[in-house]
Amino acid sequence: MLNFHSILNRDAVSSWLHNHFNFIAIQITNIMKLEENIKKIEQIARQKAKENRAFRSYLEGLDSEKIDKIVHRIYEEIVSQIDCTACGNCCMNLRPEASHMELSRFVEEKDIEAFMYLKGFPCKYLKEKKCTDYLNRPEECRSYPYMDRDEFVKRIPGVLQNYEICPIVFNVFELLKIELGWRYENTKD
Ligand code: SF4
Ligand code: SF4
Repeated sequence: MLNFHSILNRDAVSSWLHNHFNFIAIQITNIMKLEENIKKIEQIARQKAKENRAFRSYLEGLDSEKIDKIVHRIYEEIVSQIDCTACGNCCMNLRPEASHMELSRFVEEKDIEAFMYLKGFPCKYLKEKKCTDYLNRPEECRSYPYMDRDEFVKRIPGVLQNYEICPIVFNVFELLKIELGWRYENTKD
């Protein structure tokens, strides 16, 4: 078995992932408590800013398609364990990216650019952590937080913006580190 703490060869990591990631991931999601406290997530996001940049660099050297497969599977395991109706933080803090046409239903035309991506902007349809226009919500709202999309590694800048807002993204990102056996401490040797 590959010893994670002595990993130096990224090809070896990719090969090992290909053969073993299903088994390890099931173990990890079973033993790790998911973090859902938004205040704590915001705090950890500030503390781990450098660590997450280092992890991004590490991921850029791995096989992108294999990372996508792992991320998609971790996401599937996590999404059923987090109750969005008890959260609503994306709608309170970040308008999901939407097309101009979709946004035109929500904001004045002159304000659309400013509202394409904005923190601290609760959507007017959000009431008591629930969407009051759920059936008509924009496509981007439906697919947020985009963890089932491909090219995770290329999308990491956006992922990290959502990491501090969405418990699903936060936990997927942290579980990915564990699954890959990546530790920030080991990058500083
Ligand atoms: S339309 Fe609904 S799902 Fe979309 S941001 Fe507003 S409250 Fe959230
Ligand atoms: S998608 Fe993320 S931020 Fe939005 S309600 Fe669900 S857990 Fe919360």
